Amino acid sequence: MPVDLRLNDILELKKQHPCGSKKWKVLRVGADFRIQCEGCGHRVMIPRVKLEKKIKKITRE
Ligand SMILES: [Zn+2]
Repeated sequence: MPVDLRLNDILELKKQHPCGSKKWKVLRVGADFRIQCEGCGHRVMIPRVKLEKKIKKITRE
């Protein structure tokens, strides 16, 4: 079953970014996701299946 992921969700990943942050914001959903690092603003595109495996926690406001 796919993980419920929505726009603007804050994802805490298992591995931290070189800037020290583990939190990423969801900017685009689909087969490929675009996420932005909450620490340094770096953006990456990542396939959903790959992203799902990296998620430790999802925060929704
Ligand atoms: Zn970063």
